[in-house]
Amino acid sequence: MTLLLDLSDLEREVGGEVDFRITGGLPDDADVNGARFGPVTVRGRALWTGRTVLVRAVASTEAVLTCSRCLGEFRTGLSAEFVQEYRPEAETCPSGVGGDLRQDPQRQARRPEEDASSAGHGEVWADGEEVPEEPLPFVGQTIDLTAPAWGALVLELPMKPVCSERCRGLCPVCGTDLNRESCTCRVEEVDPRLSPLKKLLEEAKERSD
Ligand SMILES: [Zn+2]
Ligand SMILES: [Zn+2]
Repeated sequence: MTLLLDLSDLEREVGGEVDFRITGGLPDDADVNGARFGPVTVRGRALWTGRTVLVRAVASTEAVLTCSRCLGEFRTGLSAEFVQEYRPEAETCPSGVGGDLRQDPQRQARRPEEDASSAGHGEVWADGEEVPEEPLPFVGQTIDLTAPAWGALVLELPMKPVCSERCRGLCPVCGTDLNRESCTCRVEEVDPRLSPLKKLLEEAKERSD
């Protein structure tokens, strides 16, 4: 199931906008280090700029990740903002619902004029917002938001996921999950270079006791 944004309610007048909320799944090949993803919700606003549809949205999902310390799986929420601009393309087949698109000659003829007054176009961008380089093409009344949603979410995945900041991980000697039980392996606790520091800490503790 893809994340399809339906634009039939978007007025094709400059400043026309529509709020949306859609739910779908990520592509089957959406795989990063074995992470699994639940349904994705995309909430946002589509704006008709005069020549393009500007989509600002937040994608959110729940991911099942593998803890880099204890190798256990855990669930975590992910959410990410994205901005993407889309340019309508004429349908290759003019029959059927193509007539709905109002690709009338007048509209085409107005385009050079709109290009000349590109000042208005710049106003749709908020200060400091990252402007995507190229609008992506779309055909008809729907835009597939799967790719930008996935692209934004994948950047939110932690490089070294941990199930909890307090996760004690696995014993490097016997592999016991130290969150569940302890083992009797002797592990060099402190880097020898830090042992003077450890001694100081112990002395300080003794004094405070
Ligand atoms: Zn863990
Ligand atoms: Zn052990």
